[in-house]
Amino acid sequence: MPSDQADRRLLEHVRTAHLLRTTAAVLSWDQEVMLPPGGVAWRAEQLALLAGLVHERAVDPRVEEWLAACEQDPRLRQDPFSDFAANVRELRRDYEQCKRLPAPLVQQLAETESLAQHEWAEARARSDYGRFRPWLDRLLRLHRDKAACLRDPRRHAEAWDALLDLHEPGATAAQVDAMFRELAQRHRAIIGHATEGRNGGPDPFQGQPIDDRVQESFVREVLVALGFDLERGRLDRSTHPFCTGTGGDVRLTTRFTADGLLDALGSTMHEGGHGLYEQGLDPARLGTPLGEAVSLGIHESQSRLWENHVGRSRAFWRWCAPVLRRHVSTVHADEAVLFAACNRVQPGLIRVEADEATYDLHVLIRFQIERALLSGTLGTADLPAAWNAAYREQLGVVVPDDRRGCLQDVHWSCGLFGYFPTYTFGNLYAAQFAEAARAALGDLDAMLARGEFAPLREWLRVNVHRHGRRFPPAELCRRATGRELSAEPFLTHLERRVAEAAA
Ligand code: ZN
Repeated sequence: MPSDQADRRLLEHVRTAHLLRTTAAVLSWDQEVMLPPGGVAWRAEQLALLAGLVHERAVDPRVEEWLAACEQDPRLRQDPFSDFAANVRELRRDYEQCKRLPAPLVQQLAETESLAQHEWAEARARSDYGRFRPWLDRLLRLHRDKAACLRDPRRHAEAWDALLDLHEPGATAAQVDAMFRELAQRHRAIIGHATEGRNGGPDPFQGQPIDDRVQESFVREVLVALGFDLERGRLDRSTHPFCTGTGGDVRLTTRFTADGLLDALGSTMHEGGHGLYEQGLDPARLGTPLGEAVSLGIHESQSRLWENHVGRSRAFWRWCAPVLRRHVSTVHADEAVLFAACNRVQPGLIRVEADEATYDLHVLIRFQIERALLSGTLGTADLPAAWNAAYREQLGVVVPDDRRGCLQDVHWSCGLFGYFPTYTFGNLYAAQFAEAARAALGDLDAMLARGEFAPLREWLRVNVHRHGRRFPPAELCRRATGRELSAEPFLTHLERRVAEAAA
């Protein structure tokens, strides 16, 4: 078959698989936002069926034929990043990964993850680790099998690497280990410096309950100002904020607590950053590699950039403080107070509420524990004790119950193993992108202070979003920022931010 024809068939084929996959994503969103408890078992079956159908398409033997026909084409070697070459490279990667997984395992994973997520939410609400533990055991068994299937000994020194590779192509545990060694030391110095000196400021909303409808109207206005298009997306509520969907239908969720307005804003801007990436993908290429996010680290860079580099900046609060006072007439805090409150460094228990300086230590703890759980050196019976000991050692805090300890995150319950370090990759990428955007745009702070978010959003769209999977993450970073990924821009940003908040 001529390569042009094979390429066309291939793209049509993966596009239909993508339609099925996004259908499952809507059902998963519904499960988190709407589903009555009585529908949980039926939903698990629906998701398992769809996962089976997606898998069946992904491993269709015709895919191998089409790929083989494309791989004969000399255009592949002329420009490795052309539309044609990038599609073939990425589809080969997807095909090789899917082919390694037996269909029954794929379906069993989908069904177990759907049920386990419900069990986790119940267990978390009651702070009852014993209820979740058998599900965690089941999930670990399945993910060990999955890792064993996916593991390519030439690239994956350990089973966990094969799971990380799904989310952050090419990254390894050894690389993550080295990254954390570099970060942890400087982090501790930054935390020490902040907590010993004048450290941000108190949260003006603590003990000041605000109606959640008022909070919602405020965060919605901010979200729209950033450029999130509500004609092509929604904002709802869930236990754990997330973003799903793509193109014309991007679903965000957030959460509200009576005195947690700053957390609700942070979560909304975070998920909004993910949503802007999805809405910024090339609409003509949706469902094919050039219309898909390239990695979770890059995805996370978009959320952290809006949440931290924008949402925690003094310039942003110059614009946002009056917006907030318009929604909440009882708030008298000014820009300086709100900026200081957002940047208080305070080692705490909850990852999603952590400040920028302590956040990566939460990730480090999860990375080390998960790697030990997967390899079996840590048993699930010992998880709460190991978790609590790590929090005491790394952050100096005492975990009072499992709800605020090892049950706080949704990830393991929905099968996201090998995922947590992508948050730290995201922080590093975010700082490097923000630095490059500042250099390109001129006085970014003046724009943020006027509520002009379009220049930054456009810079990200052109330099990151529009490429989809054309460039692997490391190459994308080089092209957008002119250099290799490094921890330096992130650490410099943190040191500057902590000093500014203490001034
Ligand atoms: Zn995120």
